[in-house]
Amino acid sequence: MPEVKSVSRSKKSAMSIADLITGLRSLSKNLWWTWNSSARDVLAELSPLYWSRFNHNAVEIMARVSEPELTARLSDPDYAERVADVLATFNKYLGEKKTWASEHAKELTKQPIAYFSAEFGLHESLQIYSGGLGVLAGDHIKSASDLGLNFAGVSLFYREGYFQQRLSADGWQQEVYPLFRPDSLAMSQVIGEDGKPVTVSVELGQSVVHVQAWAVKVGRATLYLLDTNIEQNEPHYRDITSKVYGGDATTRINQEIILGIGGVKFLHALGLKPAVYHMNEGHSGFLTLELVREQVVAGKSLDDAKAFVKAECIFTTHTPVPAGHDRFSPDLMGYSLGKYAESLKIDFNTFMALGREHPNDPQEHFTMTVLCLNLSRSANGVSELHGEVSRDMWRGLYGNVEAKDVPIGYITNGIHTFGWLVQKTERFWLSRTQNDREFFRNPERLKEILDEVSDEELWSLRYRLKRDLMEFAYGRLSAQYERSGQMLGESFGNALSPDVLTIGFARRFATYKRAPLVFSDIDRITRIISNSEKPVQFFFAGKAHPRDDAGKKYIQQIVSLTRQSQFLGKVVFIENYDMNVARHLISGVDVWLNNPMRPLEASGTSGQKVIAHGGLNCSILDGWWREAYNGENGWSIGKDENHADQNYQDSLDANSLYDILEQDLVPTYYNRTESGIPTAWLKKVRNSMLSLMPVYNTHRMVSDYVLKYYKQKV
Ligand SMILES: *Cc1c(COP(=O)(O)O)cnc(C)c1O
Repeated sequence: MPEVKSVSRSKKSAMSIADLITGLRSLSKNLWWTWNSSARDVLAELSPLYWSRFNHNAVEIMARVSEPELTARLSDPDYAERVADVLATFNKYLGEKKTWASEHAKELTKQPIAYFSAEFGLHESLQIYSGGLGVLAGDHIKSASDLGLNFAGVSLFYREGYFQQRLSADGWQQEVYPLFRPDSLAMSQVIGEDGKPVTVSVELGQSVVHVQAWAVKVGRATLYLLDTNIEQNEPHYRDITSKVYGGDATTRINQEIILGIGGVKFLHALGLKPAVYHMNEGHSGFLTLELVREQVVAGKSLDDAKAFVKAECIFTTHTPVPAGHDRFSPDLMGYSLGKYAESLKIDFNTFMALGREHPNDPQEHFTMTVLCLNLSRSANGVSELHGEVSRDMWRGLYGNVEAKDVPIGYITNGIHTFGWLVQKTERFWLSRTQNDREFFRNPERLKEILDEVSDEELWSLRYRLKRDLMEFAYGRLSAQYERSGQMLGESFGNALSPDVLTIGFARRFATYKRAPLVFSDIDRITRIISNSEKPVQFFFAGKAHPRDDAGKKYIQQIVSLTRQSQFLGKVVFIENYDMNVARHLISGVDVWLNNPMRPLEASGTSGQKVIAHGGLNCSILDGWWREAYNGENGWSIGKDENHADQNYQDSLDANSLYDILEQDLVPTYYNRTESGIPTAWLKKVRNSMLSLMPVYNTHRMVSDYVLKYYKQKV
C-alpha cells in the first residue's frame, strides 16, 4: 500500500498549479462533476455564496474566481491534493477502455447511438427540462456514458429555459423567464474544421431557418443543443428555441422540425453516421422524414427509403392517454412542411398518411406517435402496465389485431443512481464499498454491504438527511414569505423538525397526478397531521405548465391550506421545483407519496430517487411501482384495478391512503426501541434498498435498451 501511495503522490506533484487550474476549468465544463461529490466539493468550496446564488453552476464559479485567487488557493497542499485526486479520477474515467459496452456491445462502439429528446434534465444549472421526461433523458445519457456507449444526445438550447416559479400573495403561480447566456453554461459552440461555427439550414414553410449548436459534455458522451438564435434568422425564428414547450401549436411544430430535421442535418454535417436513432417520445419524430428524404434524393423509391429508415430507428412512447399525443392539423402541416414534402417527391396526402391512424381520412390530424410507430423498427412503453396500455391504444394501426400482438414492448424507467445521491449518502455507500460506484447493480453484494450496516448507522444517516432538508426548507420558506410580504411566524422554525415523520409530494402539477388527494377529507388528515404523539408533516413542490390553469388551481389550493392555522408549519409548499429542490426532498423525506390516476403515470421515476437515501414509497400501483412493490418494501395505495367512475376511484384511493397512514405507516414510524430506533421501519428500508436499487436505475435500463433494441439485427 505505501508504494501505491508514493507513486500517486509523485504523479500528483508533477501537476503544476497551472495544470490544476486548466484541469478545474475543463472539469467545470463536463457535467461528469454532477455525479461525483468530491468533484462538486472542490468546485463549490471555491465560493460557497456564488455556488448557491448561481444554482450550483460550476462555470460561473470558474468565471468569478480570479486567476490570482485560484493560484493562491491551489498553493494550499490539502486543496491541491484533493483537486489532483478528482482530476485523476476524471481523466481515468474519460480514458477508460474497459467498459460494459466494450464487453457487451463492441459492435456499437464505432458509430454513435443518436438519442433525440425535446428536453434533457442534467442539472439544475442547465434549465432545458420541464419534468420527468427530461430527467429521464438526462439520466439515460449519464448511464450511457458510464457504460461506455458511443452516444450522442440531440435537443434544443432553450435560452429562457422552462420558467422560474413564483407564487403571488394569493398562491397563484407566476412565471418568470430568466435569460441564460451560453458562455456562462457548461457548453461550447460547435466549431467546424474551418474554425467557424457549424450551421445547417432547415426549410420551414416558405423560409429557411439557420441552426447552430452547442455541445455539452456529459462524461464521455456529448449532447448537441440546437439553437435558432442566429443573426441571419428573422426575429420570430430566433425565438423558436427560446422556451421549453413554449408558445402555441406553430411554435411547437417549429421546435419539432428544428429538433428532428435540424438534428439529423446537424449530425450529418459533423460527419457522424449514427447506427441507431432513438426517439425519446414523439417530439423528434420528424427526424424520420429527413432520413427518408436523404434516401429518396439518393435514388431510392419511397417504400425502399422507408424500409431503410425503419431499420435505423427506435421509438419510446411515454403517453398513456390519446389526448396527450402531439397532433398537428392538415393546415398547419401544409403551411409548415408542405414545401418540404415536395422534396420527398410525394403528394401531400401520402405525406400526411405517414402520421395518420386512418391514412385515407383527409381531415385527420398528423400524429407524431403514429409517424414514429410507422417508421421505427421497435417501439416500447416505459413500464409493464404502460406497455399494455400502449398496445391497446395503438391496435388500430396494426389492423386491429389483439392487443397482445401489437409490436410495442416495454423497458421500465430508472434513475442514474449516483446523479441523485447527495454527498452524505454517497459517502455512506462508498465508504462501505471501497469506492465501488457500481455496487448497487449486484443484489448479493448489496445484501452483504447492508448486513454490515447497523440500524443505528442507518438511523443516523436518516437524521442527518432530514436535518439538511429542514434547514433547506426553512431557508427557502423564509425567502418566499419575505418576497410575498408575509412573516414566517416564530413557531414555524420550531415546527419543521427532523423528529417528525416527513412525507414528500413533488412533481409537475399535471392534474392526473392529483396533488390535493390527501386533503380529500380535511378532518381526517388534520387528525393525522396534528396527532401530538405521532405528528406528520407534508412537503409539497411542483410547477404547473404555464397554460394549465387547472394545475395552477391545485397549487393555489395547497398553498392556501399551508396558511390555515391547523396546517401552519406542518404542510409547506416550496416554490420553484427543479432538480435542486428535488434532490433535497428525495434525500430528506421519510416517505415519497405518489397518487396519480391509474394508468396515467407511464412510469414515474421520482420515487426511485428516495430509495438509496433510505426513504420509502407509498404509491398507487401504477407505472414502475406496480411491478416494484413486493408487500414489504413500501406501501401500495388502492388495488391493481381501475374504476370507470373517476370520483368513486378518487374516494377509494383517498380512503386507502388514510387507512395506510392511520393503521400502518405512522404507527410503524413511531414504534421505537428503548434507544429510539424504529426497527420495523428500518426493516422496510432495508427491503426497499435490496429489492429496488439493483433494478430501478438507468444502468439497468440503458443496458436493457442495448441488448433488447440497440443491438437488434433487422
Ligand atoms: C425526477 C423528477 C421529475 C419526475 O417526477 P415524477 O414524479 O416521476 O413525475 C420531475 N421533475 C423533477 C425536477 C425531477 O427531478
